[in-house]
Amino acid sequence: MKNIPFLKPNLVKHGTYLKYLEQMEQSGIYSNYGPLNTLFEDRVLQEHFGGEGSVTTVSNATMGLILAISQHRRPKGRYALMPSFTFTATPLAALWCGLEPYFIDIDPKTWCMDENKLHDVLSKLGSRAAVVVPYAAFGTDMDLTVYRDMENRGIPVVVDAAASFGTTGESGQFGKQFTGLVVYSFHATKCFAIGEGGMVYSADREKINKIRQAANFGFETSRESLQQGLNAKLSELGASVALSTLDVFSEKISRRRALHGLYVHLIRETGLLSQGWVLQQENGQIAYQFFSILSPAGVDNLDVVDYLAGKQIQARNYFSPACHQHPLFRSFHRSDMEATEEVASRVLSLPLWEDMTENEIRCVVEELGRYG
Ligand SMILES: *Cc1c(COP(=O)(O)O)cnc(C)c1O
Repeated sequence: MKNIPFLKPNLVKHGTYLKYLEQMEQSGIYSNYGPLNTLFEDRVLQEHFGGEGSVTTVSNATMGLILAISQHRRPKGRYALMPSFTFTATPLAALWCGLEPYFIDIDPKTWCMDENKLHDVLSKLGSRAAVVVPYAAFGTDMDLTVYRDMENRGIPVVVDAAASFGTTGESGQFGKQFTGLVVYSFHATKCFAIGEGGMVYSADREKINKIRQAANFGFETSRESLQQGLNAKLSELGASVALSTLDVFSEKISRRRALHGLYVHLIRETGLLSQGWVLQQENGQIAYQFFSILSPAGVDNLDVVDYLAGKQIQARNYFSPACHQHPLFRSFHRSDMEATEEVASRVLSLPLWEDMTENEIRCVVEELGRYG
């Protein structure tokens, strides 16, 4: 049987962005928020956020998180409250801002931060909470209601929406109209894939202006640093790939949704759900990065990953171990981690890439069925 890799990045081919590269050579501008970057930001804002609010590109989402947290945090706060069930970039970004991650358990169904446990910790910490950093797990259109309330009460919120560019809910693109900061990744493994890159959105233009300046050495209009900045700009090369990606983005999203739909259909048909396999309770129309599922209670996800590997199917177990289980983060504060540890021991990420065939998906689901 043929090998099924976990991931096959399908970036736009160079022929599609040659025209932008020619424009770049003609302008002689290679970075510093050049014309291609501006065109990309304008198009994203119009085409995906209905012209509301503001966006700024960044070199990657980790830099976006560092800038967003450092610009938006309460200056005297000490803790960044976040789920442990996230990629390590989220707590690492807090550390780079001089903050301590404070890990909160997740909701066992949505796999996003548990709002009740978050409230308990927030009331305990008071003004020592510097920022709240929820993660929209695996690109879901996470309900932002409680985070809007926090923003209105003066508690800064930075959403790790790394996998949510292309995810839409009732009001459009996930994050639209949010007055805190929302950070998206354009890494090769995400749905909007350009290699390395990212973007920060806010309905509040002032916040985005601050991020844009911070990402360019803290310069405003002169070449004098007005604040502690760094370099996190997207190059014009990156913006070229991003512009071409925008042209085919809706096709990519549809393809991924269709493949995801097929997985769900086959999983139901095979009876896996009645055997104890569990799907994430999702919100909205998701721009799927891969396919996530929980193995039945008591079945270790690593055993399933090994079994599939033996059948030439490459699977992963994102995000396991959860962040509070990493050596670097073990000593930090946390709420109880009941749901996080349960999900981390059972979560599987299955292959989902754009030119995957129906047969390949059938093959993966059949093997799960055989595993029992
Ligand atoms: C991919 C990812 C990041 C990091 O994005 P980069 O663009 O690679 O820096 C951060 N958080 C989460 C949850 C991610 O999935």
